[in-house]
Amino acid sequence: MSDTDLPVIPHYIGGRRTPSTSGRLAPVYDPAIGTASANVGLADEAEVAAAIDSAAAAFPAWRDTSIAKRQQVMFAFRELLNARKGDLAEIVTSEHGKVVSDALGEITRGLEVVELATGFPHLIKGEHSENVSTGVDVYSLKQPLGVVGIVSPFNFPAMVPLWFLPVAIAAGNAVVLKPSEKDPSAAVWLAELFTEAGLPDGVFTVLQGDKVAVDGLLEHPEVQAISFVGSTPIARYIYETAAKNGKRVQALGGAKNHMLVLPDADLDLVADAAVNAGFGSAGERCMAISVIVAVEPVADELIAKVTERVAGLRIGDGRRNCDMGPLITREHRDKVASYIDVAIADGADVVIDGRGIEVDGAADGFWLGPTLIDRVSTSSRVYTEEIFGPVLSVVRVATYEEGVELINSGAFGNGTAIFTNDGGAARRFQNEVQVGMIGINVPIPVPVAYYSFGGWKQSLFGDAKAYGVHGFEFFTREKAVTSRWLDPSHGGINLGFPQTK
Ligand code: NAD
Repeated sequence: MSDTDLPVIPHYIGGRRTPSTSGRLAPVYDPAIGTASANVGLADEAEVAAAIDSAAAAFPAWRDTSIAKRQQVMFAFRELLNARKGDLAEIVTSEHGKVVSDALGEITRGLEVVELATGFPHLIKGEHSENVSTGVDVYSLKQPLGVVGIVSPFNFPAMVPLWFLPVAIAAGNAVVLKPSEKDPSAAVWLAELFTEAGLPDGVFTVLQGDKVAVDGLLEHPEVQAISFVGSTPIARYIYETAAKNGKRVQALGGAKNHMLVLPDADLDLVADAAVNAGFGSAGERCMAISVIVAVEPVADELIAKVTERVAGLRIGDGRRNCDMGPLITREHRDKVASYIDVAIADGADVVIDGRGIEVDGAADGFWLGPTLIDRVSTSSRVYTEEIFGPVLSVVRVATYEEGVELINSGAFGNGTAIFTNDGGAARRFQNEVQVGMIGINVPIPVPVAYYSFGGWKQSLFGDAKAYGVHGFEFFTREKAVTSRWLDPSHGGINLGFPQTK
């Protein structure tokens, strides 16, 4: 089959699959096979406008739909997603490559946000003060924004959209989601499920595309807010452009997460955690651990334990019960692998080289095995840049203070973890470390849905984190109402500024 005979993944506009008419296509690969399984249509400006117009037309009726009815849709969606999550996991694996159990894991974390959103009436309540002045009441309303745009990355094609979608929709907004063009099918699947759950047509739109679609969302006057997740340079661009255009924006960026290991830690638990958090999903997680900061003398023993565990991992096709799958594209795999040469050139010690490993999968899959690099210099690009692959660095330090200083001097502040049996040290760490999400003996501290997800520094541009209370704040706008019901005793002329009496 030539590339042009492949199925084309459509938009989802007005409650139905809508084929792209732009004539622009991008290949969507099955990363474990190494060939394109479909193409995705990339929106042109006319399609962007049609998608936003459809959402804008659906918004007023959805905004005015009763809380009870909106809640019923969220409950129905929750039931459907829970019942059919296995189907979605297979789609995620076939386009992203992560193993099926991991795909199910991301859907389960997304489901948590859907469950939070079923309780949304409690989270969009205003406040009321009676008799603030004689016969005068003040109360606040939290209203939806209108059309909101979500732009998501390739690495969590189900979970990241679900960080925002349930919250934005429950709060009464109309959503246009621009998923990653690398794994775009999950978004269409979610949209169809929402329709089945009773969501009115046009309230959830999927706009397939690239920069043209994103820029269209950033420029269109109907779009009130943008939630973005992706790499730091694009996050900064989204933040600046959206703000310049007067839109509300939250832009979550890249990461370089450190695990600080104190000498009193249980090194077997640490080694398990380092392997799980360093190589799970082939390191393509924004909360992956990419640097072990070993407070000496633990490094040699820990490296031996990690090496032993890596030897037992099965790398291969995510549908074949393996532990770790391929990377997203050939280009990304090559870029990640190139850091191994950088490490060698910079004098680091490559303990495990993931190139050329044996895999349980097709020869052309985008493979790179777990890679462990010791004695990484903090001036090396291996340390300073986000690699976003299965490459785990070790930096050796002499003291706790040196470790914290290292973590705090980094450009990113997404996640971090400390491993220790010393409660005082852990408590000091949570206070001193300049990172948004902290694990204490927990390597991937993604907060549950009723807290909020977001990092510091170059890992989040904007004021609001994703989901939780922050999510509902982001997707609603407050009005304060001062009200007095007419009573002849309240009349009279007074040109002074209103004061409470
Ligand atoms: P990416 O920045 O390349 O793409 C993200 C989205 O932006 C995609 O939808 C893409 O189509 C769009 N995009 C790409 N280039 C653009 C441009 N020039 N103008 C406008 N839009 C553009 O990111 P990715 O490779 O898909 O995802 C991996 C990155 O996402 C990593 O850096 C990872 O750390 C980050 N990430 C962060 C979080 C977080 O919560 N902070 C979560 C997941 C992923």
